Amino acid sequence: MPPPTRAELDVLDPAVMADVAAGQLRLSGAQALRLFHEMPIHELGRWADAVCRRLHGESIRTYVIDRNINYTNVCTAKCTFCAFRRDGDEDDAYTLEYDEVLDKIQELVDIGGTQILMQGGMNPKLPLSWYTDLLSAIKQRFPNVHIHAFSPPEFIEFIRFFDAPGASLQAKLRWVMKRLQEAGLDSIPGGGGEIFAPAVRRKIGLGKCDTQEWLTTMRVAHELGMNTSATMMFGHIEGVADRIHHMELVRQWQDRAIADFAADDGGRYKAFIAWPFQRENTPLGRCLEWGQGEGDDLDQPFPGDVVAKLDGSGDKNAHPLFGRRVRMAGSSDYLRTQALSRLYLDNIYSIGSSWVTMGPHIGQIALHYGANDMGSVMMEENVVSAAGTTYCLNEPMICRLIRDAGFIPAQRDNEYNLLRLHTDSSSPDLSIDDWSKLRSQRLHVEAVEETQPAVTLTVESSGAFSPR
Ligand code: SF4
Repeated sequence: MPPPTRAELDVLDPAVMADVAAGQLRLSGAQALRLFHEMPIHELGRWADAVCRRLHGESIRTYVIDRNINYTNVCTAKCTFCAFRRDGDEDDAYTLEYDEVLDKIQELVDIGGTQILMQGGMNPKLPLSWYTDLLSAIKQRFPNVHIHAFSPPEFIEFIRFFDAPGASLQAKLRWVMKRLQEAGLDSIPGGGGEIFAPAVRRKIGLGKCDTQEWLTTMRVAHELGMNTSATMMFGHIEGVADRIHHMELVRQWQDRAIADFAADDGGRYKAFIAWPFQRENTPLGRCLEWGQGEGDDLDQPFPGDVVAKLDGSGDKNAHPLFGRRVRMAGSSDYLRTQALSRLYLDNIYSIGSSWVTMGPHIGQIALHYGANDMGSVMMEENVVSAAGTTYCLNEPMICRLIRDAGFIPAQRDNEYNLLRLHTDSSSPDLSIDDWSKLRSQRLHVEAVEETQPAVTLTVESSGAFSPR
């Protein structure tokens, strides 16, 4: 049974927060909103850290070695925050050949990687057999590589592309998902979560699945025994209450997954990862920052906060500038949001740090704001990178960031089992004699010109990284 919610209690009272941190009390939406706005940031981090230490112990923090494979950039949706998608007839529209995918996985295996994160645009030209044959080919050649692939927006388009039979959305999803699962799919990533509140989602995710479809896709995956993750992309037009409503839905559906499927080896949300919107090259990024427009009054609330409601019922007409101003998230907003997610999502095992967008050092600090996991050594990333600055770390650097934060780094698998605990001199970071050589590696993608299409992580940035 989940812990009770006591909405009448003063959440700024340390005794109340001690109960929350101990897992004996569950935050209400209004309490979470109050924490976000009124609790000093380090105090919020300290409580989130207490939850993290209760769930994950004092000493070990993890990372995974996987590879992000974006198999196609052709997409029927037109998300306003996306610089990656193509219609299909442009010169740089692509769909990877099977050999290209297999070569990428070989490179991953060569560096000790254990899983792939495979997502794409929603490409109407690819039949179901393209996916099942690809999954089978991957499993045949790499039986031990975990395939974490195809987010809910892709599944919702799959049922249309493949004309899936069934009398309900669940039945159609079950039909498609079972075929992909039988071909080798192991788990499903939480891409396309963005923000669940309809007023926001309709503005930024054009042509993409709605919230009910997203959550239903994950429920079918859980029913079929597959684990999933949940994500949130924030720091754009939404209000803070929208972020909490988003977490509330994840928490509610996780309760249901545990209650309905856990006894039968069902799946659940294993992790939650929130990252800030990256604006470069995106239509949404061309919105003015709040305060920069004529008539913007910073003494008044941000339009997204005027619209947002904790129950997700926000009316887009509640403010004339809603959807036309963004509020980009800086480091403290990011850390507050992540800490709040650790406190709110008491039924989710792992909270991932988002160093890919926030940078290595904020990602490292995030380990003291509720995150237990540094995510993946980054070999390749195309979707977020197409929209601006991202970072790239190899295994020694990730290990050193974790160790310098005060923890023992450990490589994990998709199920969060520890594969290698790095305690001795052969550890990836402790065996490096000369860090200056690593500083000249390719680590950092600068924002690209408007005329440039998608980018990969190839910009050299000498001296950009210093793990201390
Ligand atoms: S974010 Fe994904 S679904 Fe949206 S347009 Fe880009 S590739 Fe398509």
